[in-house]
Amino acid sequence: MSDHSTLIDAVPTDLWIGGKQVPSSSGARFPVHNPATGAILTTVADATTADGATALDEAVAVQRSWAATAPRERAEILRRAWELVIARRDDFALAMTLEMGKPLAESHGEVAYGGEFLRWFAEEAVRINGRYTSSPTGSGRILVTKQPIGPTLAITPWNFPLAMGTRKIGPALAAGCTMIVKPAAETPLTMLLLGQVFADAGLPAGVLSILPTTSASALTGPLIDDSRLRKLTFTGSTGVGKILLSQCATRVLRSSMELGGNAPFVVFDDADIDAAVDGAMAAKMRNIGEACTAANRFHVDNAVRAEFTEKLTARMSALTIGPGDESGVQVGPLITAKQRASVDELVQDAVSKGAVITTGGAIAEGEGYFYPPTVLTNVPSDARILREEVFGPVAAITAFDGEDAGVAAANDTEFGLAAYVYTSNLDRALRVSEAVESGMVGVNRGVISDVAAPFGGIKESGIGREAGSEGIEEYLETKYIALP
Ligand code: ADP
Repeated sequence: MSDHSTLIDAVPTDLWIGGKQVPSSSGARFPVHNPATGAILTTVADATTADGATALDEAVAVQRSWAATAPRERAEILRRAWELVIARRDDFALAMTLEMGKPLAESHGEVAYGGEFLRWFAEEAVRINGRYTSSPTGSGRILVTKQPIGPTLAITPWNFPLAMGTRKIGPALAAGCTMIVKPAAETPLTMLLLGQVFADAGLPAGVLSILPTTSASALTGPLIDDSRLRKLTFTGSTGVGKILLSQCATRVLRSSMELGGNAPFVVFDDADIDAAVDGAMAAKMRNIGEACTAANRFHVDNAVRAEFTEKLTARMSALTIGPGDESGVQVGPLITAKQRASVDELVQDAVSKGAVITTGGAIAEGEGYFYPPTVLTNVPSDARILREEVFGPVAAITAFDGEDAGVAAANDTEFGLAAYVYTSNLDRALRVSEAVESGMVGVNRGVISDVAAPFGGIKESGIGREAGSEGIEEYLETKYIALP
């Protein structure tokens, strides 16, 4: 099945609650658009507060039995779900390209990456360990065990419609937690396809619910307030994360936050410039720049700035823009007209303050929310683009002199998710990696996400880690049992 209309006809478009498709309790539906054309792909059921309550009832009803299900059996279900995602890779890839816009090749990359969280956490499900030690005084024994937190709520963004879901569902289910997923309203189809995969993989009804909605806070607010819910895991903007954290605070609800980034890409004078340009293309242009790990600011030592700028400009201007389902396309549309306007606003702000455009920088006529790959140089320090996440195909270059100034520039932000460092000096690579205030550092690498590595940020970029061996801890409580 790879034809567009056949796929869209086959995607479930009702809510996924209690192991089956159900319409919204209000009967309402909302449209899902193709950002390459602005056309409506289909409509999906619009979950209400009451639907959220039903999903939580279902989750609570099966929480105990799911937690008591043998870890090996939970693992086998996750493993089968991974196999089914891979078997249906063409459907998942096309669904993501149609609803989100990324080129098909990148959607296939996300199927592999996003699916991998299911296989990885299948392997982690059987390795949840505690410890048994004696007290230093010799007066007692200490038994430490891990237990699933209980019912959880996941709120996910539109930029990685599969991976942002599986990076939460995988560890939650592996740990023995139930989960309600609220995908972004822009991209509900991929998660609804995943619901069907989990049913086919044998997941008991009620363990996973998927609730697309246009009324995010009306759905999630009452769930966060419900004492039966034990955890919120969120990926999205820092602004919304702060609102959700304050809601969680009233119940001391455990929460994980994967928030915004403002990743610096630092090129030192001893860097291999061709390798740095390759890395810059990956770090900037993956997912059309719509990634929280995307390089946002390029800080380049004055000694190599001209060469780096010239080579990056040549590469950026050679990219092919178009609908993601057309062959050869490397840059798809942005998610919405609003997102495109906000990218353009940051570019025009920088230009008005003195930045120079070396390629791109203007919205072309025509349908779809396309924005051209853009390079800005001489970006002044008061330009908003150095402070705010651009979430689009725009590289802002600014210069520095010497290592200390490079590190200071990298750290001049309230965010701390990813950072990229290019240098051929190992001592400098380690020194700078330690000095950079971010949860993740790529050294001479433009892509850092890895299922086996802890993903997450410091400062205003978030709380907690996903993936790696750390990821499952977010869904486990530690219990200490004191023994004589
Ligand atoms: P983005 O800028 O990537 O769209 P958002 O933080 O706005 O990031 O959205 C991420 C997710 O959070 C989406 O699923 C969105 O529907 C949801 N969301 C936005 N505002 C709220 C809110 N007040 N309460 C709950 N969820 C929200």
